Amino acid sequence: MEQMLARLSPVSETSENVYAMLSKDVKLPKITDENGKEVQLTPANFIRFMESKNRTVRKAAFQAYYHTLDHFRDTFAQTLVGEVKAHHFYADARHYPTALVASLTANNIPVKVYDQLIQTVNQNLPLLHRYLELKKRALGVKELHMYDIYTPAVENENRYIPYDQAKEMVLAGLKPWGGEYVKILAEGFQNGWIDVYSTPDKHSGAYQWGGYDTHPYVLLNYQGTRNDVSTIAHELGHAMQSYYTNKKQPYISSGYPIFTAEVASTLNETLLFKSMYANAKTKQEKMYLLSQYLENFRTTLFRQTQFAEFEKLIHEKEAAGEPLTAESLKSLYLELNKKYYGKGTVSDEEIAMEWARIPHFYKGFYVYQYATSFAASTALAKQILTEGDPAVQRIRHSLLEAGNSAAPLDVLKAAGVDMSTSKPLEQAIQVFAETLDEWERLLNEK
Ligand SMILES: [Zn+2]
Repeated sequence: MEQMLARLSPVSETSENVYAMLSKDVKLPKITDENGKEVQLTPANFIRFMESKNRTVRKAAFQAYYHTLDHFRDTFAQTLVGEVKAHHFYADARHYPTALVASLTANNIPVKVYDQLIQTVNQNLPLLHRYLELKKRALGVKELHMYDIYTPAVENENRYIPYDQAKEMVLAGLKPWGGEYVKILAEGFQNGWIDVYSTPDKHSGAYQWGGYDTHPYVLLNYQGTRNDVSTIAHELGHAMQSYYTNKKQPYISSGYPIFTAEVASTLNETLLFKSMYANAKTKQEKMYLLSQYLENFRTTLFRQTQFAEFEKLIHEKEAAGEPLTAESLKSLYLELNKKYYGKGTVSDEEIAMEWARIPHFYKGFYVYQYATSFAASTALAKQILTEGDPAVQRIRHSLLEAGNSAAPLDVLKAAGVDMSTSKPLEQAIQVFAETLDEWERLLNEK
């Protein structure tokens, strides 16, 4: 039976492969940029245009992208439905009650964790709506549209941060980890762990890799923005987890799943944010940092949960024999978007095609882990900052050194967050609420 299933995999992968090729083949139009120049819109530069301070530019990018995807809506619907059907086929062949259970069982995660995330985030959507109201005010727009969401609410001082200074900022931010962690990091900075600048043909983005018997390697494309400094802290979070895991675990358990990996990395981002905020000299700087932190909550906790809920819904509908067409996927997505973004934000009809832009839907119940990891790391960062050394020792031993030696839920529980309950989610949402209060206070001050 397993041999049969294995031989089927090239067939069941067709949906994802066609989706990837289609996304590449679909040619987006040119739009007019901030300088009146015609530029080619691409999936890679889309978010940059969505962040534009010029509303005409970001609206043009938004409409151009989604109108183009809409021309191919039936094909995109078929590739997504094919993927869902494949999940059901494998789950059924292996006697799992649902595709969701089949996917989560690989990491020993109970379905309750998934459902609880959706439920807790849903209960707290009024907080997201409050954030969006404040963002609308900060941007000074009458209506907040989907094409306004990404643009920064607070003007950033566009100063170039030299890499040497970024290193100091990261080392200062991660000081709560204690002397040993910071010393290893400083050695890493010295000894070529990191490839810093962009060069022709270099892989884009940032990531961490390495072998069991090498030190970790980090790829960056450093451009000197505040975001880039945060990326260094993030990737070094992965690097330090690899470092400690490789040191403590035998080869067989030296890997670690995404469920715990993104905890170690986002924890560092939070520590860095706290330190930068404490050292911020002007009100403008504070407001900027707060607005970025709030955006992290929106894009990681709320948005990834919205995706997770969409995934769950389409699998349930397909399993119930309801036909999934472009029209039904679009209306399902639009309804969900209206629920998440609330009445104070205009859910422009174009957003109904957003699912066609998200490759993660072909990874089968994967994105919820971004939300759970972010909640876990928010709680753990708080423990480090309030408890100090005992929390550091516990988290290093139970999380950073654990690798695959235990199930991810047990690893996190030993580190100090019990993800089988909704408590860490509620704590993270509490931090979001407190950050909102602080931002509102500063907004009202002027
Ligand atoms: Zn990461």
